[in-house]
Amino acid sequence: MSENESNALIVQKFGGTSVGDPNRIKNVANRVKGYHDRGFKVVVVVSAMGKTTDGLIRLAQEVAEEPSKREMDMLLSTGEQVSIALLAMALHSVGVEAVSFTGAQVKILTDGNFSNARISKIDTKVIENSLAKGKVCIVAGFQGVDVDENITTLGRGGSDTSAVALAAALGARECEIYTDVDGVYTTDPNKVPQARLMKKISYDEMLELASLGAGVLHSRSVEFAKKYGVVIHVRSSFHFSEGTLVVPEEQIMEKLLVTGVTLKSDESRISLTDIPDRPGVAAEVFSRLAESGINIDMIVQSTGQNKLNTISFTVLRKDVESSEKSLNTVLKIWGSGSMSVAKDIAIVSAVGVGMKSHGGIAARMFNAFAKEGINIEMIATSEIKISCVIDKEHGQKALQLLHDVFGLEKTAG
Ligand code: ASP
Ligand code: MG
Repeated sequence: MSENESNALIVQKFGGTSVGDPNRIKNVANRVKGYHDRGFKVVVVVSAMGKTTDGLIRLAQEVAEEPSKREMDMLLSTGEQVSIALLAMALHSVGVEAVSFTGAQVKILTDGNFSNARISKIDTKVIENSLAKGKVCIVAGFQGVDVDENITTLGRGGSDTSAVALAAALGARECEIYTDVDGVYTTDPNKVPQARLMKKISYDEMLELASLGAGVLHSRSVEFAKKYGVVIHVRSSFHFSEGTLVVPEEQIMEKLLVTGVTLKSDESRISLTDIPDRPGVAAEVFSRLAESGINIDMIVQSTGQNKLNTISFTVLRKDVESSEKSLNTVLKIWGSGSMSVAKDIAIVSAVGVGMKSHGGIAARMFNAFAKEGINIEMIATSEIKISCVIDKEHGQKALQLLHDVFGLEKTAG
């Protein structure tokens, strides 16, 4: 970093693995000290240590079948409270003045949607006062408080969003997200050995990848970053190499046709055939599913024939049974239509902003599958994404194929 960057404000977030044990917390403290010593004003956001949150969830399940949502958030928020205090102590031990805050103490205001609350406002006064005194501010991730002062949490992985929201509110231009991987890859390196670390990726591409299961960042953190123009730097907490910058599209000079490819193997396809072709049918289907708390991924409807139509969609495999239950009721009411389920499907997708201005990507993808005899069951696209549903058996091969076909191992980031 250059001279004129001293005194700049930086927000750094450390995930569960990065603060997983006392030694790692000390390492984080040393890293933070490095920035502090160079004159940066540092705000640190931390997650709960290791798998603490999972442990707390299990604990709740042992005392109640359906724990109250409010009390659940009260419980889960304690994980982060442990990390902030320990990190503050570790910083004191290396001679850095630091102070820890819960979400409520720095007035991270959210709506009252327990377990999946949205941040509506952050009052930066408390943090700014401490920063002005030369202190490092450590804020508990994943939590806020609603207007009635109930503690709320932001959804699993939500500390990323706390960090980016704080960066936006404080006017920091960069938010570093320290994690246990080196950054964002062209695909999952565990599945494709030639996967390459990207230097830069646009917000929209990152959002698509996040929703396709590339679990590096909490989607909402990317939405925040995009809205407020905060650059996210995803990097490893275990070494000092640069990771991946998530930036506005204009900052990407070379717009690749395809930036990343993904594979989701935990979904199933449900098709409703010969259902009535009239207004309100789709509304009925998806309202029922929504009422049962089922998330839908891809939806494809064909054009109607003889007043009948077909709708296919994908749901998480774990939701298949409850989906079938809800839909059987609907089919009975209509008195027409049937349901078929393909339990073991895979969704392979290609994502890239270059698709906006170039044709032929879909054809290349479909040709690659055709050559290998892979049948495509469903296709869905967005402006920068093409997804295909295929048999789960071919998932891994299809992913490798796309990575090869679009030359992702060779291109420069
Ligand atoms: N501790 C929370 C979780 O495990 C939040 C986070 O890590 O971002 O989901
Ligand atoms: Mg995370």
